[in-house]
Amino acid sequence: MDLVMTGTGSPLPSPDRAGPSQLVQVGGRNLLIDCGRGCLMRLAGAATGPAAIERLLLTHLHSDHITDVNDLVTTRWITGFPAAPLPVVGPVGTAAFIADTLTMLGRDIGWRMAHHDDLEAPPVVPVQETAGGLVFEDDVVRIVAAPTEHRPVHPTVGYRIEAEGGSVVLAGDTIPCPALDELCAGADVYVQTVIRDDLIRQVPVARLNDVIDYHSSVIDAAQTAARAGVGTLVLNHCVPTPAPGTEGEWIAIAAEHFDGEVLLPADLDRIHVGPAG
Ligand SMILES: [Zn+2]
Ligand SMILES: [Zn+2]
Repeated sequence: MDLVMTGTGSPLPSPDRAGPSQLVQVGGRNLLIDCGRGCLMRLAGAATGPAAIERLLLTHLHSDHITDVNDLVTTRWITGFPAAPLPVVGPVGTAAFIADTLTMLGRDIGWRMAHHDDLEAPPVVPVQETAGGLVFEDDVVRIVAAPTEHRPVHPTVGYRIEAEGGSVVLAGDTIPCPALDELCAGADVYVQTVIRDDLIRQVPVARLNDVIDYHSSVIDAAQTAARAGVGTLVLNHCVPTPAPGTEGEWIAIAAEHFDGEVLLPADLDRIHVGPAG
């Protein structure tokens, strides 16, 4: 199983980091977690695309995690012959969000169906809402969800994907909480949105300082990783965006609280999950 970082950025636009999303690849199958700014460009960079996505898992409905869902829906639809339905999993509220997205796309869908005789039906996007527990399981892949804590954004969930003897947790935006510890227990790889509250507090802008109370700091993430006994902590969706060359500072802060491997990847970095081979 491989984790491909299809977007390591935050809501703040960056020339190098797309908005939050991650791709998990197992045995030729593609699971997409969140769909932020530039996601489809990064999928192309990972040599895959909308038609190849088996399932979209949304951690929450904050705009930075869903900006390009409309692009995923539309591009999958117009490049399929015919397009397969796009199964979407997310917290309660996801069904309404997808319905709203399809409404927003209504004019475009109508024009394309009027123009292309072989587009006989609008995009099909079945939604599975989850508050936690088993999401999907077959002979190869097991996906479980757990509630996370990102209030006032509520509800929110994180995911654990297990396959080929490995496990990866995609926590999304959350502060530490017991359900997150449980989700992470013994995982090989734990991906966590992190902020540097020490840097943010130096900027006297209330709107920026507001983000501190609903995100894990680097220390929070490291302590979660240590409590849960994970193998590798992946610092992601960093706020503020790390200046090039300062990634080591972030990793060093985490390493004071966690003995395992700590990574701060770039877009399209590929991280193997589970036994080597
Ligand atoms: Zn968020
Ligand atoms: Zn976010």
